[in-house]
Amino acid sequence: MKSLWNDRDAAAFASDDLATRVYTSRLLGADESLVMHGGGNTSVKSTTQDFFGRNVEVLFVKGSGRDLCTIEKEGFAAIRLAETKMLAERDTLTDTDMAKQLRGLLMDQASPSPSVEAILHAIMPAKFVDHTHTDSVVTLSNNPNGKDIIGKLYPDCLLLPYTMPGFILSKQVFNAIRGQDVSAYKGIILHHHGVFTFSDDAKEAYENMIELVGRADKYIAANGDASIQAAGKAPDLTKGAKADLLHLAKIRRAVSKARGKAQIASLNSTPAAAAFASLSNVGNLATRGPITPDHVIRTKRTAVILGESSSGDVPEVKAFVDDYNDYFKQNNDGTLAMLDPAPRWAVWKNVGTLAFGSTQKECDIITDITRHTVWAIQTGEALGGWQALPAKEIFDLEYWVLEQAKLKRPAATVKPHLGKVAIVTGAAGGIGRAIAQQLHADGAVVVGLDINPVIKEHLNQRGLTGHVCDLTDEEAVRVSIESVVAMYGGIDIVVLNAGIFKSGQTIDQLDETWDKTIEVNLTASQRFLKHAIPYLKLGVDASVIVIGSRNYPAPGAGAGAYSVSKAGITQLARVAALELAKDNVRVNVLHPDAVFDTDLWTDEALQRSAERYEMTVEEYKTKNLLSREVKSTDVARLASTVASDVFCATTGAQLPIDGGSDRVI
Ligand code: ZN
Repeated sequence: MKSLWNDRDAAAFASDDLATRVYTSRLLGADESLVMHGGGNTSVKSTTQDFFGRNVEVLFVKGSGRDLCTIEKEGFAAIRLAETKMLAERDTLTDTDMAKQLRGLLMDQASPSPSVEAILHAIMPAKFVDHTHTDSVVTLSNNPNGKDIIGKLYPDCLLLPYTMPGFILSKQVFNAIRGQDVSAYKGIILHHHGVFTFSDDAKEAYENMIELVGRADKYIAANGDASIQAAGKAPDLTKGAKADLLHLAKIRRAVSKARGKAQIASLNSTPAAAAFASLSNVGNLATRGPITPDHVIRTKRTAVILGESSSGDVPEVKAFVDDYNDYFKQNNDGTLAMLDPAPRWAVWKNVGTLAFGSTQKECDIITDITRHTVWAIQTGEALGGWQALPAKEIFDLEYWVLEQAKLKRPAATVKPHLGKVAIVTGAAGGIGRAIAQQLHADGAVVVGLDINPVIKEHLNQRGLTGHVCDLTDEEAVRVSIESVVAMYGGIDIVVLNAGIFKSGQTIDQLDETWDKTIEVNLTASQRFLKHAIPYLKLGVDASVIVIGSRNYPAPGAGAGAYSVSKAGITQLARVAALELAKDNVRVNVLHPDAVFDTDLWTDEALQRSAERYEMTVEEYKTKNLLSREVKSTDVARLASTVASDVFCATTGAQLPIDGGSDRVI
């Protein structure tokens, strides 16, 4: 562990105390073995002016949940220092009252809520206080010999047993340091929790942290690292291991059911994860508890352990749920409401680890935590035996009133497709791209497919990606579908949008346009469904949206191939609705018309068509009963809604989206 302090960078942050605090906070945040995803906290004591221009001594402390690695000045809350210290002198204080009082001491009510460890920061007699949840130090605690090891490594630190964060911890430290010369200590080690360092000098507080953590790292390198499996070999799920993919879809469905809503399943089959999943005693190791109790909010107390495959459902998930119910009953004091009993991570034997979440971001956070957990468990084993805190301590944090408050904060809006997995064909531009973006905005993770490589640029963000695929190449279609399952654990929404359109040929003139149109618009869709259906049947409220055309109910001369292909795909959708209803897969058709904001329509083409009708372009675009332009985003919103729970009782339907057509009505 090396200090990242750099005099030149530090000079750029030397304008005031808070700027310096931002600099070293980011240094701590830059190393995920020190803090991860909102963990850890820092503070600086300084003065600021109140509304009347009077100087006030304040504590700038990290806002609750803020990430140290990207923190700005605004991420800190300024609270009145004297009154914050007075809170520590109280005999008791509930955490709810503590949070209220701390908010009351804010200099600016628009600030984030102060960290739950604010009182502890306030009572430390040093200007800069740094706190991390360092893996290596905590891992040494999680061991039958933990106290001895820590005692030998840190004779110059104040060592304290585990206790709940919040007021109880602040009080514990308050009592421990009362009447002592704290500057005699290089830091405080909280068993099973983390490390505090402090100094009037920002660099010294930071570098003391690095030095203390470095001791644990060295100890582990000398005594524990060797046992970690260097590499494992996981099957490549994208390469034809269909039985594994179907099992993955079953796992995802079982977890979604336990959680009461759709969940993405994100597989980590890196060599380290696969090696861990191959340990003969992994089922025992991964169910002893987390590295530190605050991970429980993200990961639950234990992993669900999954066999390689099973013929029916996934009994392991049901067993996990039963165990969770027991854990709740045993620890509930009678006042608590049970959280959902679904696992957040799994060890999939001989394959790797899985993270379950409603969004890609949630899965990424869980994957990060479990990666560290897997390391800590194996290190702990090598040092004398991995041992987590008792279940009761973990439970108390999982059901801690302040954590409950965080979870109960209402989401701004509930997105209809959170946790869902969608594929949209023909998504490089126009209606397809708009649908892909809409489904993503509505919460789904989305993969768009297109033969046009530009799709990789047009859909290029976490959870909304474009893949090049020739949809008339059945093998390429199969591989694309399977790679989506490998990536997210299943498929819930399929939008068959890809199609080509060529007009101007009467039936007696039709050449290869006929075969090509039927191949792309109809045959490719059947092939796509063929490979997607096994996964759709295992999806969560699965839905297929077929993009038809007004040309089906109201064909036009000179577009025979296109009209027939759209009639064919409509009929295919109706048959699919009949065949898939028993598996709760809905299939519905949208018939758009005159959607001009797509790549197919250039300004010149619009001009030519308008002239043919002796209209202006504006008149031509709104040539429908409602006299309104139909945009690709309108089609996209309808597609997303039909795929949602709003249409839960509708299958086999056909909806026009054309501004109203007297030929259709
Ligand atoms: Zn902490």
